[in-house]
Amino acid sequence: MRCPFCREGDFAVVDSRHQEGSFPIRRRRICSECKRKAWTIEKLEETPLKVIKKNDTREPFDVEKLREGLEKACYKRPITAEQLETTVRQIESEIYACYHGEVPTSVVGDLVMERLQQLDQVAYVRFASVYREFKDVSDFVQEVQPMLKRRRKMTQ
Ligand SMILES: [Zn+2]
Repeated sequence: MRCPFCREGDFAVVDSRHQEGSFPIRRRRICSECKRKAWTIEKLEETPLKVIKKNDTREPFDVEKLREGLEKACYKRPITAEQLETTVRQIESEIYACYHGEVPTSVVGDLVMERLQQLDQVAYVRFASVYREFKDVSDFVQEVQPMLKRRRKMTQ
């Protein structure tokens, strides 16, 4: 980095103090020209993730909303608080790992569907009925039919 004092020299690092994975990082620097010394501090700034909604508006990604949606779908189902929490964390980390800045709401919904399908089929259908906005019973049948087919195969 360029020296902030004389704006000529290279403000080079001569010492840095930080623990692996902890912030802020302090760096001792010295200018190659004017020889002034200073510490610089590097902080970790997390970019807040935004969700792109269906109507193209954006709102901050809220893990609480995700949890609420899952809780509703899993209401009175044999799913422990721990399983629910693990599912929330898995979805959250998958989103943060694959998306930076923005994530379409459909991606979040699909991830929830994917997880719920493995976790509990009733919860899955409950969530799907809200998420896919089932208009009538035929939409519902369409959603559950593949599951029923799989089950039939398993019991045969
Ligand atoms: Zn300088």
